[in-house]
Amino acid sequence: MKQAYVLIIGAGLTGLTLAYLLRNTDSEVVVVEARNRLGGRIHTVGGDGQNTIEMGATWLGPAHTKLKELLDALNIEIFEQKLGDKAIYEPSSMGPHQLVTLPSDQESSYRIRGGTMKVIHTLVSYLSDGQLYLNEPVQKIKKSDEGLRVISRNLEFKAKQVVSTLPPKLLAESIQTEPSLPDELTSIMQQTHTWMGESIKFGFSYPTPFWLDESLSGTVFSNVGPVPEMYDHTNFEGDQFALKGFLNGSYFSVSGEERKTMILNQLRKYYGSQVDSYMKYYELVWANEPFTYRPYDQHVLPHQNNGHKVYQNSVFDGKFHLAGAETSPVSPGYMDGAVRSAFMTFERLMG
Ligand SMILES: Cc1cc2nc3c(=O)[nH]c(=O)nc-3n(C[C@H](O)[C@H](O)[C@H](O)COP(=O)(O)OP(=O)(O)OC[C@H]3O[C@@H](n4cnc5c(N)ncnc54)[C@H](O)[C@@H]3O)c2cc1C
Repeated sequence: MKQAYVLIIGAGLTGLTLAYLLRNTDSEVVVVEARNRLGGRIHTVGGDGQNTIEMGATWLGPAHTKLKELLDALNIEIFEQKLGDKAIYEPSSMGPHQLVTLPSDQESSYRIRGGTMKVIHTLVSYLSDGQLYLNEPVQKIKKSDEGLRVISRNLEFKAKQVVSTLPPKLLAESIQTEPSLPDELTSIMQQTHTWMGESIKFGFSYPTPFWLDESLSGTVFSNVGPVPEMYDHTNFEGDQFALKGFLNGSYFSVSGEERKTMILNQLRKYYGSQVDSYMKYYELVWANEPFTYRPYDQHVLPHQNNGHKVYQNSVFDGKFHLAGAETSPVSPGYMDGAVRSAFMTFERLMG
């Protein structure tokens, strides 16, 4: 049996920020992650001489001050998302698309230089050997007199304090506890929306940015679909090019090849055959990710129960804490919420 003072379940932004905050304390910390990769809903793909593309979290805004504070502490730079002054807009299937002028007073959004995974790689660099276990989905948490026992696929841990960073809905569906969690908490967890859990993202890398032309734009808004939104995804240096967008979430059940064909058909309407000159296609259907998403039994609204007061108290005599982006009362669901929840949990553990 392995021992820890604090055991963190999940190596996403919340879990790794919390481990980073705990680095200079006496607490022996371990992080147990289900996937064989880090980052959770932060997932940057590509690289190796081609542009990196975000399949998960991408943007931060001026309100995301706690995330910005963390990025500054880690010396990670941000840069402005290029929108251009025009967008391709397709109002309905009854008429053609148009090039419209974007309002000049829009609030800017920002991307992380080098890709969002840069934050994750930097945070994990503060962990020592033996602190991180990948490929170990936690299956059970048992309360005992000395603390908590955490049972994962192949391992068993004894910990004084346990922090879950799973989206609450996923925690309710995938980790058994002994004794059971309070009924009110379980019921709220089951109806807590997991931000972007239903989304499908795609990206194409290109040798040239053909959309940066006077008569075109990389920004697309379409009421016709299947792509409702798309943006330029050129890197900070301006030498690697990509387009990245969202596909209507209802296309989760068709094959990847069918999705790609549908997307290219839509983009050909705007850009002609240039869209076929892509170097790589990437996509991620988040609803098919068992370590992020579980379907709801009843309709749940975006952000429903995010930051609910039930998440502000620990359970099991103060030994089990529910953290993660969806538990934060401020910026819930977003990277800023994940960082805030790590800071709040840190204070609770130190208190
Ligand atoms: C497509 C998409 C786009 C997004 N865009 C943005 C954006 O532009 N801006 C923004 O601010 N936010 C965005 N978000 C949200 C952002 O990604 C999240 O707020 C943030 O990454 C959440 O971090 P977290 O650590 O709280 O949760 P997660 O990243 O979900 O981390 C939970 C971790 O727990 C692990 N885990 C699950 N089950 C188990 C288990 N049984 N045992 C052990 N480990 C387990 C998971 O694998 C994961 O690593 C987006 C999300 C998605 C999916």
